Amino acid sequence: MKPGFPDAAGSDAPPQSPIAPQALSLDSTIRFDCHPAIACFNACCRNSDVQLTPLDIIRLKRRFGLSAARFVARYTVPFEMDHHGMPGLRLARKPASSACVFLGEEGCGVYEDRPLACRYYALGKMHVREKRAPQTGERYFLVREDYCEGHGEPVRLTIRDYLARQGIPEYEAANRPWMDIIVRKRSAGAAIGAPSARSLQLFDMCSYDIDGFRAFVQQSGFRDIFDLPEGEMETILASDENLLAFSMRFLRQVLFGEQSIGMKKDAREKRMAARRPAWRQ
Ligand code: SF4
Ligand code: SF4
Repeated sequence: MKPGFPDAAGSDAPPQSPIAPQALSLDSTIRFDCHPAIACFNACCRNSDVQLTPLDIIRLKRRFGLSAARFVARYTVPFEMDHHGMPGLRLARKPASSACVFLGEEGCGVYEDRPLACRYYALGKMHVREKRAPQTGERYFLVREDYCEGHGEPVRLTIRDYLARQGIPEYEAANRPWMDIIVRKRSAGAAIGAPSARSLQLFDMCSYDIDGFRAFVQQSGFRDIFDLPEGEMETILASDENLLAFSMRFLRQVLFGEQSIGMKKDAREKRMAARRPAWRQ
């Protein structure tokens, strides 16, 4: 089964077997390969559980020529990432089946734009805190499902090469600010409390509706409050990827009070007139 998510996102241990207990680093060597001639080809996609990241949505909706909202409505299933109702999305499955909606006769129907979780499999990542280390570090682990024959293939490669081969660094760079927000919220736990409904809506839009966020920042109400230097908004609007990076800055500002986007002098009064989002109201 494709893992729910490649990154344990701040937890200190892999959630459950079949995760191999050995923690691996970028320079660790693994033995694994996956290719169309392998006997188990697509076995993992026939029982899929793929959590989506913001860049997954952008790449896939672009592939289908759909708006983000239409893609989400057609091909995803919502779920709650935690008991506070943090919105998450999974890829839909075929009707009356556990197979991924994109699985076809020839294999993955969206291979060039397959989600990050699919690129990771059969590898996972977790955050660990070493003794006396000030910050968490990243460790990797193998997921050994009985049916996956990739572990018996003769190919040996480092984790670093595996990630590069799967195009993972590009996805991680774009998604990192989003992951950081989730980890930060999760780490704060009870100190932050339950997010407001407005905060959850903003998280949902910034994470999964890049076209909705584009319309949001182009509204006069946004420009009345935020003071972006000449030309910066043009750069932000030039690509969905740029817009995603800006949406995460915006999210950190409204959720955690990080002042990375300048505000107009009279913005405070205007802001007071609007509902100010916060994790807890
Ligand atoms: S080798 Fe593993 S990852 Fe590749 S198709 Fe088979 S079950 Fe899936
Ligand atoms: S998106 Fe492709 S690789 Fe991922 S589960 Fe679906 S069919 Fe398999």
